[in-house]
Amino acid sequence: MNIITRDSLLYRVWQKVQQGERLSLEDGLVLFNTNDLIALGKMAHYVQQQKSGDAVYFVLNQKIEHTNICVLSCKFCDFAAKKGTDKAYEMTTGEILSKITPEIREVHITGGMPPDWEWERYIDIVKSVHQKFPDADVKAYTAVEIDFFHKKFKLPIEEILRQLQAAGLRTMPGGGAEIFTERVRKLLFPQKIVAKGYLEVHKTAHRLGIPTNCTMLYGHIETIEERLIHMIKLREAQDETGGFLSFIPLAFQPGDTGIKPKNQFTSAVDDLKTIAVSRLMLDNVPHIKAYWVMLTEEVASVALNFGADDIDGTVGQERIAHDAGAISPMELAKEKLIKIIQEAGKIPVERDAFYNPLNVYSENVIGKIPYLNSVPFYHHFEKGSFKILPVVPRHMGILSVQKQLDAGLFSLMDYFEQEESLELIDWCIATRDQVKSVMLFSKDGWADLHGKKIGITDDTATSVKLLKVILENKYNVRANFERLHRGVNDYSAYQAILLIGDEALKRNKFGLDGYELIFDLALEWYNWKKLPFVFAVWAARKTLPDNLKNELKQDIKKSLEASQGHFTEIGKIHDSRIGLSPEEIESYLEGFNYHLGEREKEAIREFRSLVHHTHANR
Ligand code: SF4
Repeated sequence: MNIITRDSLLYRVWQKVQQGERLSLEDGLVLFNTNDLIALGKMAHYVQQQKSGDAVYFVLNQKIEHTNICVLSCKFCDFAAKKGTDKAYEMTTGEILSKITPEIREVHITGGMPPDWEWERYIDIVKSVHQKFPDADVKAYTAVEIDFFHKKFKLPIEEILRQLQAAGLRTMPGGGAEIFTERVRKLLFPQKIVAKGYLEVHKTAHRLGIPTNCTMLYGHIETIEERLIHMIKLREAQDETGGFLSFIPLAFQPGDTGIKPKNQFTSAVDDLKTIAVSRLMLDNVPHIKAYWVMLTEEVASVALNFGADDIDGTVGQERIAHDAGAISPMELAKEKLIKIIQEAGKIPVERDAFYNPLNVYSENVIGKIPYLNSVPFYHHFEKGSFKILPVVPRHMGILSVQKQLDAGLFSLMDYFEQEESLELIDWCIATRDQVKSVMLFSKDGWADLHGKKIGITDDTATSVKLLKVILENKYNVRANFERLHRGVNDYSAYQAILLIGDEALKRNKFGLDGYELIFDLALEWYNWKKLPFVFAVWAARKTLPDNLKNELKQDIKKSLEASQGHFTEIGKIHDSRIGLSPEEIESYLEGFNYHLGEREKEAIREFRSLVHHTHANR
């Protein structure tokens, strides 16, 4: 992509971005200080497109602030009240449940910290919401609240999180981070958790398989450098655990805090810059949220072309920001969110709390597998009439069944299931012999896995079926299979683990503690059948008009041709976090055959026949 700017310092940072290099604090200062807002936005948009294509996510969510009574007195807070005052309120569990409707997919629970609530009351809230609304993910309690529980109820943080998880907690909000430097903390919220404490709570949650979100409150007394230090600390934590789902820059609402004059909101330019810089600095956080409640709908809408790919949700009744003077309407209907996203030229994608897509509101949508091995198909893809939605293979299958995708690179098993409505087009992801990214990490050899528990990836059916076919037909072994939940890194219950995609690539290189043996499933297949293995095939809905099918075929062909000979560059840009050297990326991508030829078709027939005869199907 070409960006023209008169700011030579900005251009130097742009060159780093294009190379997939990590940005430093100094680079961040260049980004914040540039006068070329449009070029900055384009840079952030470029990075966002690599991560989430044309998708902008929203969720049907309900915010619950169960009480505003708080023992702390943060200077910037207009929400909290002391017990016994007119403004103070407490909600019963029944009142909380009465605010949730069946269509809600995420219940976001945070509040003040009252002096007299029992631990059981917090557990009861989570459990009751989870039991009464099992389709809604409970996202509850900030790190500040968890730290409060830890001190008040004298329970270790890990134990608190385990109990909440057992009650039904699925994810956590990111509130309470504010600005991580001690200078700001001492001036504005001296009683609040320090940066180290905030990050420890989140990292503990990640280790337990509870993904979380993270925030930054900007536009008060912090300096630009302090914003960047904050982002870098979050980036370092994410390098360790990978558990942050999204970053939410929260624009400070002055209200009656006295910190700033009441009408001195952050400027739209500052908001857009902060969103864009966040996208560029936080290279390892999947999503950047433009939180419309604090930004206003207008700014949030523009932010969707400045690096943001999430606009939060319908929110229901939200009090904290509105008590501080936020001017957005209290309820923004789903239709309105869809319209805002469509007007920004994006695909509105209704999601759950984990960013799994539930509904896609657009036509001519192509699914994109977000793994390194499919990058050659998309890197030079000129979208023309199409929009791109990155989605793991399993969700691609689900969305296709629901007729919400028009074409994509389908997992072979999903194609088998939908053959009647899909038409193959000429490309696939097939191995020549080994694949390096569909790996069984095991404590035992193949023959000794009989009767043992194997953890299997939740992302795709084809690799799981290949494992079952190999175990049963090649080694005459019957094992027990259990789905691994996304984000859970504790594999101790399993004798072997099947991982796929970039995670498998990384573990193949660096190893997985406790699992001495590593088997490449494609190599197992090749040594057995002397055939390639086809993991995924390009297919389009049969009802897609011929002119669009032809356009798609041309687009894929052009992208593949343009990618040949440049695997190192495109691989590096895709994701520098996998930790592969340029030579390793090159050799990995060279190991695939992308053309669906006769041998690949023979391999598909052979696999299909074995799948039919495999007991573990039934
Ligand atoms: S920001 Fe949170 S912790 Fe601070 S006073 Fe307000 S409710 Fe209490």
